[in-house]
Amino acid sequence: MAIALQAKGLTKEFKGFVAVNDVDLSIEKGTIHALIGPNGAGKTTCFNLLTKFLQPTRGTITYEGRDITRMKPAEIARLGMVRSFQISAIFPDLSVLQNVRVALQRMRGESYDFWRSDRLLSKFDDQAKGYIDEVGLTRFTNERAAALPYGRKRALEIATTLALSPDMLLLDEPMAGMGREDVELISQLIRRIAENRTVLMVEHNLSVVADLSDRITVLARGEILAEGTYAEISKTPAVIEAYIGA
Ligand code: ADP
Repeated sequence: MAIALQAKGLTKEFKGFVAVNDVDLSIEKGTIHALIGPNGAGKTTCFNLLTKFLQPTRGTITYEGRDITRMKPAEIARLGMVRSFQISAIFPDLSVLQNVRVALQRMRGESYDFWRSDRLLSKFDDQAKGYIDEVGLTRFTNERAAALPYGRKRALEIATTLALSPDMLLLDEPMAGMGREDVELISQLIRRIAENRTVLMVEHNLSVVADLSDRITVLARGEILAEGTYAEISKTPAVIEAYIGA
């Protein structure tokens, strides 16, 4: 199986405190991989290192075989590895369609002009509608983003990420703050996205992790405690002690 993203000896120190310690991680292409662990385990730090929002103290990161250790987030986005942003990245007063058009236009490095956007951006409509369909927002196409229910806002945020044509998506707690119905909605969406992409997510909701992930890496105190399928890791005594039984 081909490897999409790989970290070797990944280490991050904050003023002598080792938040991530010598982590080796391989994410196989086409899989959904989850990063879990108790609070303070180093998940967020690890995620920020992999997406290049933080520079590692030591270690290397490769994406599709290319060394991305020194690259900036925008550079790795161009290589096809994209991090999803929070809902706050959406323009609340624009419609679903307008939000995705703006994302498509930004992807091409064009500056956008809200006053003329509708006419100028309509050339992106077919492509934008494709992404809107993919995330299940077709019937909300002309709704204002602000008027969408919470789970649908997250779906829109994912659609704007898809506009960057990623082969790999990195999702930071995609289910944060969601009720059961929205969790189900976004789970289905992640499954659909992963049909032809690689997904790495940090997620607290263990039933979601169990349900969606092909592979799971458990971090504790900055180190890898276990790795495998949910069935495998949930039987590991160290994991039960450090995480599940906590
Ligand atoms: P998690 O996401 O698993 O809860 P984090 O990656 O946020 O864990 O944090 C891991 C450890 O690193 C924690 O002890 C946290 O206090 C520490 N840490 C994270 N970011 C910083 C920072 N910028 N400066 C100092 N310590 C940090």
